[in-house]
Amino acid sequence: QAEALMRAEQLAAVGRISAQIVHEVRNPLSSIGLNVELLQDAVDGARFDSQDTATEAKELLSAVTHEVDRLTDVTEQYLRMARPARPDLEPEDIIAVLDGVLDFTREELVRANVEVVRAFAPDTPRVLADQGQLRQVFLNLLRNSREAMPTGGTLTVATTLLDGDGDVEVTVRDTGNGMTEEARRHLFEPFFTTKEGGTGLGLAVSQQILQAHGGSLSCQSIPGQGTTFVLRLPRA
Ligand code: ADP
Ligand code: MG
Repeated sequence: QAEALMRAEQLAAVGRISAQIVHEVRNPLSSIGLNVELLQDAVDGARFDSQDTATEAKELLSAVTHEVDRLTDVTEQYLRMARPARPDLEPEDIIAVLDGVLDFTREELVRANVEVVRAFAPDTPRVLADQGQLRQVFLNLLRNSREAMPTGGTLTVATTLLDGDGDVEVTVRDTGNGMTEEARRHLFEPFFTTKEGGTGLGLAVSQQILQAHGGSLSCQSIPGQGTTFVLRLPRA
């Protein structure tokens, strides 16, 4: 009977998530359909005013491309979450991984007026991790922080060795908008987003990755002051 109950719960979860996917896919699809229809009309009328038509067609096409990109993004991230790849665990130098991601995002952070502070413990040991998946997590966190600081601010990335043979902790702190109580309750749920054009999958995927590593991802945030994400990873 317990098994039947679990099965029922799983089915309910599948139904809920399917409904969310349909919701995510339907709006951009109908927008694509509408734009293509307008494009067809514009092309049909091309004989009369070809310059205006070309301009209009370009705008419509760029709207279509934008929606298609978003759909691709949502479906790919969703698949990653629904069928997570088992992490390929190796001893990794987490500072090197962090430096790599910070280098990769340096330009966008500079452009966004974000100052980066690196506070790495010098004796940070190696962690057991899948480097690609870890990069993905940090990239998600850094992007979220940048988006939370629309007029710039400070991003602090720190590593700490927890007592004894303990885990390694990484904190990513920003001086951004922070989040409401409501957002804090839901932020790890798939599709929860407060951003126009957000997918709401970044943190759901990230938390799942950390859990598959035997680690964890948690968050503290104060509205108007900023947000700190705390990652824990087992040392190698
Ligand atoms: P997305 O970025 O597509 O919205 P995420 O899963 O990455 O999806 O984040 C979910 C939500 O959590 C965001 O929409 C935002 O409301 C909140 N959030 C995440 N990171 C931060 C942060 N650093 N500061 C403030 N809010 C955040
Ligand atoms: Mg995000």
